[in-house]
Amino acid sequence: METRIGFGWDSHAFKAGIPLRIGGMTLEHPEGLVGHSDGDVLLHAVTDALLGAVAAGDIGSFFPPGDPRWKDANSAIFLKLAMEELQHAGFRIVNVDTTLIMNAPKIAPIAGDMRSSVADLLGIEMDQVSIKAKTPEGLGLDHVAQCHAVVLVERTAESDDLKSMSAVIESQRQLEDVVDDLLASVHGLPKKRTIDPVYDTEDIT
Ligand code: MG
Repeated sequence: METRIGFGWDSHAFKAGIPLRIGGMTLEHPEGLVGHSDGDVLLHAVTDALLGAVAAGDIGSFFPPGDPRWKDANSAIFLKLAMEELQHAGFRIVNVDTTLIMNAPKIAPIAGDMRSSVADLLGIEMDQVSIKAKTPEGLGLDHVAQCHAVVLVERTAESDDLKSMSAVIESQRQLEDVVDDLLASVHGLPKKRTIDPVYDTEDIT
C-alpha cells in the first residue's frame, strides 16, 4: 500500500472583539484571530498538509487572500476542497497530528471536542485526529497563534485496483505489439498498430 505524508503550518495574530475560530469551533475568548477568512489557524494548517501530501499546491493557490469570495469564509470550505483533491488523487487519510502554539485560551480542556469537530469535517474517526497545544515560551509571540500539522495518507484499495487494471491492459498491448512484430518479420505482413479510441470525440458537445 502506497503511503505519503503532508506537512502544513500557519499563523494568525489575535485581535480584540472578533470571534475565535479554531478547529471548526467558536471558542469563548475576548480575542479572535485576524484573517481574510475566519482565521482558523488549525484548519488552514491541516488543509496545507492534505494538499502537500498529494503535491496539489497550497491553500493560497486555491483561495488567494485578496479574493472577496473568501472574505470571512468558513475555513471548512478550504478543508473540503483539500479532501476532494486527496480523493481525486486516490488517497485517504490514515491520521492527522497537530500542535497549536498559543498562550490563551487553554486548549487541553477542549481538545476532545476539537478532535471530534475536525474528525467530523474530515469524515474520519476521532482516534485518527490528534490535537496538542503548547505555549510560545521564549518566542515573544504572545499575541499570535501558530499551528503545525502532519498527515499520513494511503492509496485507496479502489485506486490500487484501477492501477493494476491499467497495468494488465498495458501488458496486453505490449504482447499484441510483440505478436505483430513477429508476424511482420515472419510473413512480411504489415504491422497493425491500430489504437481504438476510448470514446468518439464527435459525440462530445
Ligand atoms: Mg491562515
